[in-house]
Amino acid sequence: MSMKSNVVILGATGSIGLSTLDVIQRNKARYSIFALAAGSNVESMQKLCVTHQPKYAVMHCEAAAKQLKEALKHTHIEVLSGTQAMCDLAAHSDVDTVMSAIVGAAGLLPTLAAVEAGKKVLLANKESLVMSGQLFMDKVAKYGATLLPIDSEHNAIYQCLPHTLQQNTDLGLDSQGINKILLTGSGGPFLTRDLKTLPHVTVKEAVAHPNWSMGQKISVDSATMMNKGLEFIEAKWLFNCAVDDIEVVIHPQSMIHSMVQYKDGSVIAQMGQPDMRTPIAYGLAYPDRINAGVAPLDFSTIANFTFSKPDFTRYPNLALAIEACRSGQAATTTINAANEISVAAFLANKIGFCDIYRINSEVLAKSTLNSLNSVQAIMEQDAQARAIARQCISELN
Ligand code: NAD
Ligand code: MG
Repeated sequence: MSMKSNVVILGATGSIGLSTLDVIQRNKARYSIFALAAGSNVESMQKLCVTHQPKYAVMHCEAAAKQLKEALKHTHIEVLSGTQAMCDLAAHSDVDTVMSAIVGAAGLLPTLAAVEAGKKVLLANKESLVMSGQLFMDKVAKYGATLLPIDSEHNAIYQCLPHTLQQNTDLGLDSQGINKILLTGSGGPFLTRDLKTLPHVTVKEAVAHPNWSMGQKISVDSATMMNKGLEFIEAKWLFNCAVDDIEVVIHPQSMIHSMVQYKDGSVIAQMGQPDMRTPIAYGLAYPDRINAGVAPLDFSTIANFTFSKPDFTRYPNLALAIEACRSGQAATTTINAANEISVAAFLANKIGFCDIYRINSEVLAKSTLNSLNSVQAIMEQDAQARAIARQCISELN
């Protein structure tokens, strides 16, 4: 095996994918790119292939792969298409590390393939864990995969945990003297906006996050705080804790990325710029530290540092997600799927901002909640929720 770590990036053309490539570019002696995978953006993928020279490039759509193949015909890069190809590459014996950064449920199967091959899995794709929680974590244990959270909050929590718990979450928070996980969130672009105007906010306003630059879907999720709800569920699985062990704290400056509260009164926080290259670099190099291209915080220029409780009237999706988390796996799989459909409809200007919650809660109420102990059962629960969500949207219009 070479000294360099061979990396696959799932979702290479996205916000996390590009940040990952930026960190790798700064640390070329340690990493080489084995494969890049993305949805349908051929132009962006072509550029990345020329710069980073992966062995393989995979597009979700066959038509996109065909175009990419033509564009790369004078190179040695092998172009493939489809989910199975992504799964095969994520599990390839030459691969050490897989960055899971596809958006949404589409990330589930390739991420599970990496887990089942015992890879080091850098998890940005929170939706896959929200969908498959127990099954996902059981597979991590069974196949000896190394799971490192990339979502900034979970990466922060991970950094604030004792080493023994990082290695073995089965021990439980309590055994390590921890009494709470403090999950911070900025509150998004509508933290102080007049509630009466929320039904009329535009897509442009909703995706304009005050601190983070991210993909469209997660930006809308941040505005509704469904993102924090998905992260709540994500934290439950990653850190093996109960619903009452997690508290959401609004921190509009996004400098503290989350905290861990210990029995003796200590609170340990991880701080830094709102730049995903920090958690990505942490995950890539763990347990080492590498240059991420991110400047440290300059405390002489920080004017405000504030905290408050989330207002569930403003953020009903957050309450819905916590309720689903209490209910169990079928409920979290259901709201995740409903939310993907409602957010896509909002982004397409088919429904209003407040309809996102209306649809998500209606889908949860109308769904049959099954017991989910296989990938197939999860996919069926997901499909049921999507169908009900589409029906709800057509009834709204
Ligand atoms: P993005 O929209 O910028 O990028 C999504 C990527 O997924 C693109 O490369 C796209 O081509 C690819 N993709 C979409 N559908 C696909 C499919 N069917 N098959 C293969 N690839 C497909 O999104 P992002 O902001 O980079 O977020 C990616 C994931 O990381 C999401 O799950 C998000 O919740 C999570 N995350 C993002 C951030 C952030 O700062 N952007 C922070 C924390 C977590
Ligand atoms: Mg996050």
